[in-house]
Amino acid sequence: MAGEPQPDCLFCKIVSGEIPATIVRETDTTVAFRDINPQAPTHVLVIPRLHYADAASLGAAEPQVLADVLCEAGNVAADEKVDQTGYRVVFNTGAGAGQTVFHAHAHVLGGRGLAWPPG
Ligand code: 5GP
Ligand code: ZN
Repeated sequence: MAGEPQPDCLFCKIVSGEIPATIVRETDTTVAFRDINPQAPTHVLVIPRLHYADAASLGAAEPQVLADVLCEAGNVAADEKVDQTGYRVVFNTGAGAGQTVFHAHAHVLGGRGLAWPPG
């Protein structure tokens, strides 16, 4: 069924607690945790508890949960105080754009200069 946990999904295992993560925020619908390979002083991933492969499919099926993910990205930025200096929220979508984990997630990056375009 759409949104159900997938047995081979790394982020479903973080949601269930089967794989440990440094969790910084949780809501009924989302979990936020530090990226294992940070690309900036603040690098937090915000994921829905529901399994969808990417942000677009999450938004199509569960628009409120996608909104929750974005709202939590802002809350992470405020917690980390990068809302003062600027931060970036990224949804890599598809392997060609660098997506490696096919459970929707927002990267929240901040704490250093962030060039645009990102390359
Ligand atoms: P993507 O490349 O799919 O946009 O982002 C996946 C992110 O997940 C990468 O930044 C990667 O470092 C992170 N990641 C991969 N495996 C783990 C893990 O086991 N724990 C945590 N906390 N992050 C992970
Ligand atoms: Zn999953």
